[in-house]
Formats: sequence, structure tokens, C-alpha cells
Amino acid sequence: MKKKIKKNNLNLSCAKCSSPACVGSGPLARCEKHFLEDFDSHVRNAVREYHMIKPNEKVAVALSGGKDSTVMLHQLVQLSKRLPMRLIAILVDEGIADYRAPTIAVAKKECKKLRVPLHIVSFKSEFGLSLDSMLKKKGQAGACSFCGVFRRQLLQKAARRLKADKLALGHNLDDAAQTVLLNLYRNEPARLARFWPITESEDKKQHFVPRIRPLIRCSEKEVALWAALNSVPIHYGACPYAVEAMRQTVRAQLNQMEDRYPGTKVRIFNAFVKMRKGLVKAVEAGFSSSLSVCPQCGEISSGGFCGACRMLEKLKSGKK
Ligand code: SF4
Repeated sequence: MKKKIKKNNLNLSCAKCSSPACVGSGPLARCEKHFLEDFDSHVRNAVREYHMIKPNEKVAVALSGGKDSTVMLHQLVQLSKRLPMRLIAILVDEGIADYRAPTIAVAKKECKKLRVPLHIVSFKSEFGLSLDSMLKKKGQAGACSFCGVFRRQLLQKAARRLKADKLALGHNLDDAAQTVLLNLYRNEPARLARFWPITESEDKKQHFVPRIRPLIRCSEKEVALWAALNSVPIHYGACPYAVEAMRQTVRAQLNQMEDRYPGTKVRIFNAFVKMRKGLVKAVEAGFSSSLSVCPQCGEISSGGFCGACRMLEKLKSGKK
């Protein structure tokens, strides 16, 4: 009889072959071989199911050097052997002292190894201020939402400049399940309706590079395990501003539920997929769920001036 591995005081074996499991439990328990096979097929199936990439498209990978985006880069390089695509990577340097430099080093090394051209863009050169300087002026409350607005815009601009057909984001299943719950907790149906494994703009005046999420079917734990099993060097240092309180609470809740009721995150995402069509219709009947264009800078906005222009205006005026 094969030796079973111990995990959380439970003897677990792979639900597919009964070898010792390295991840999951019950029907979701997997040995190393089946875990790796499943992981690859989750990515392939997500790309195919949501028509994320057409043959020969230029795909810009939003690379931070963290585990999700680095694993995504490896997965897309692997996938490009079956589905031809031209890969490039874009790294946004927000300007966070003692944090970003090591992840840039990881990104450079991995891109060199995988022969993917890397383009580095920065808040400082694009908006005139690093994130550190912005937060000195505005204070650190809500730092992640603030940073996210500028980062999204900069990735979009860089992808457009580099003539990418798609912009690939390293959002995993945990991020997706958290996003669904967060938007419900915050009563943001229009924002939730805009969320999807592939995001496009209906505004034809602006060339919006569609965002794709190839890891949407892989949990955070699985991404970390894939990285470890494939010796992908990951920088695990934490950003000093990473304190988005509500997301962290939802994350902890979801992890607790997943431990107790395995498959919770997948079920939340699947329920959202089923409801989304109806949600979009309902939202459109009341107000627009599509993206529009900022009258000031011409970038994507959810209506009126975009978040980056509003925030830059506040920074200039010294308001918090
Ligand atoms: Fe920006 Fe927050 Fe990520 Fe830090 S943790 S890089 S502040 S989004």
C-alpha cells in the first residue's frame, strides 16, 4: 500500500489515483502529478472557455515579480507551444522604497530565462510622483485602492503603447471570490457586473486593451504550490501599505470557509458566473455597467472624470 502523507492531522490521498496527496481534501485531494495536470488544464480551459486569446495575438503580461503574475508568465509561455502567441511583460514600478526592487529583480531574471521582453514603467515618470510621495501628501488610508487606480491606468497605457491585443492579469480564484463578496458587501452591483474573466470596453472611441485573467480557476494555494513544485523564485516580502482592511477580512473569512467546506471559493465563483448575465441586464436597466472615457485624459472611466484624474487633482490642491 502506498504511503499517505500527513496534513492537518488527516491522512489524505489523491482522489484520482490514491497516491499521497499534496493539496486539497476529499474529492479535491490531489497528488503532485495530478495536481500539476489539473493546474495546467484549469488555465487552458479558462483561456478557451472565455475566448481570452486568439492565435498569434500579442499578449502583455502584467508582471510584478510576485507569485501570481510570475506563475502566469510561466503558464502562458507553456501554453504558447499549443496556442501561438507573442508574449511581452509589463512591470509597473510604483515607487515603494525597500519593496519593489527585489520583485523587479525576480521579474528581470524570469523574463530573461523565458525569453520574454520586459518593459518597466513607473508612477514617477508617468504621473510625476512615486507612490511613496503621493501617500506622504494624502496619507496612507486607502493606499491600495489609490495605488490600484494608477496601476490599472498605467498598465492600460503601456499595453496600448506596445500594441498589445490583450493584457493578462494574475488574478486567481481567491481574488475572484473575494471580489464577488466585496461587491456584495459594498452594494456595488454595477462594479460586480463589470467583473469577468475577460473585460472589454463597449466604448469604441477609445482603444481599450481587453484584460484577461488566465489564473481565474486556480486558487492562491494552488498557485503557490505550482511555484514551489516548479522552483519558480518568488519574492514573498509584503508591501508596507498592504492594509486594505475589508479585503483582508473577506480573505480570512473565505479561507476559514474553504477549510471547513472545501470548494467554497469555486462555488462562489460558479454562482457568480451563472448570475452574471441577469445581473448585467438588471444593472443596465437601471444604470450603465459599461466603461466610458475620461473627458480630461481620455483614459477609461466608469463615468465622468477617471479615478486617476480625480486623485491627481486632489494631490495638486493638497486636499486629503
Ligand atoms: Fe499598491 Fe496595495 Fe499592492 Fe502595495 S499592496 S503595491 S499599495 S495595491
